[in-house]
Amino acid sequence: MATKPWSAYGIDQDSATAEEFKYVYHVAHLEDAIRIIEDGVIRASLVFDDSILKNTRTCVSWVSPNTWSPGSIYGNVAFAFRWKDIVKGKRIYWVEDPKTNRQQIVRLLLSEGKFSDYKLERYHAEKSRGPLVCNLDPKRWYFNAQLTNEYMVLQDLPLEKCRAINFWKHHDRYCSKEKVGCPYLGKSQKIVGARFLGLYLGGGRVNYTSRFSRVDNTEEIDESVDEAISHLYWGIISKFQRHSGARFNMEEGRAIIRSIFLAYGLKKKRLHTLVNMFHSEEALRTALKTEIGSVFKDFDIGICS
Ligand SMILES: [Zn+2]
Repeated sequence: MATKPWSAYGIDQDSATAEEFKYVYHVAHLEDAIRIIEDGVIRASLVFDDSILKNTRTCVSWVSPNTWSPGSIYGNVAFAFRWKDIVKGKRIYWVEDPKTNRQQIVRLLLSEGKFSDYKLERYHAEKSRGPLVCNLDPKRWYFNAQLTNEYMVLQDLPLEKCRAINFWKHHDRYCSKEKVGCPYLGKSQKIVGARFLGLYLGGGRVNYTSRFSRVDNTEEIDESVDEAISHLYWGIISKFQRHSGARFNMEEGRAIIRSIFLAYGLKKKRLHTLVNMFHSEEALRTALKTEIGSVFKDFDIGICS
């Protein structure tokens, strides 16, 4: 059999580097993640990376099964999808295997029909022995976890299909978006997650709250989200010094709480002024817990227990 471009990465289910392939993640930076929430969809975009497809007009959504312990190079907010939902009914093509000084990447493309923007070789997960394997009976997928596996999906990914949204640490030194000076380098899931939740809660369109669950248990809140909620809560409480003398009714109080969340998410100085409109720290705590508790009502969250 002729050697294929993927032969060097071949696994079977018993390989030490094989991991069962259940979920893929689209990981984004804070601003992009908020836009995804506002749009309700991860929009496919032109391939502008160091890819052989960069001069085509191909639009893709990027996903990967990798979860990195040193942190993600793609940002802090992860949108998880079931792999079988993504791959269902699609053709798989081998794209390329670029190598950087720190990682070996393999890229495959998923297309609903024939892909003709560029000449690519079909990849058959049941028989092409490479970094992606599909066993039949029972049907199980595996990927080579030693590699950076990047999948280019030729479609938008609507959030209705999203299984979970949670927060990851950003890698200390590397970023795939900003080659230099990414402001999120090394930022923890808790810090950026709290800002994300500030923008989410303050924005008032909270239609995806059920997605803040664990990826493997949709009844339970994801730990990274619960920690980010606490960080947001205590971060706001810490700004309370003394009552500014402002007076407001309950309805105005809710509007102030939303403005507080937004100011936190945007790192605005007015956060301090808004927080001190409450007549006591106790009143502020109650208002925060009421607002957060009502949005996250289907989950047990730390600050409300
Ligand atoms: Zn970055």
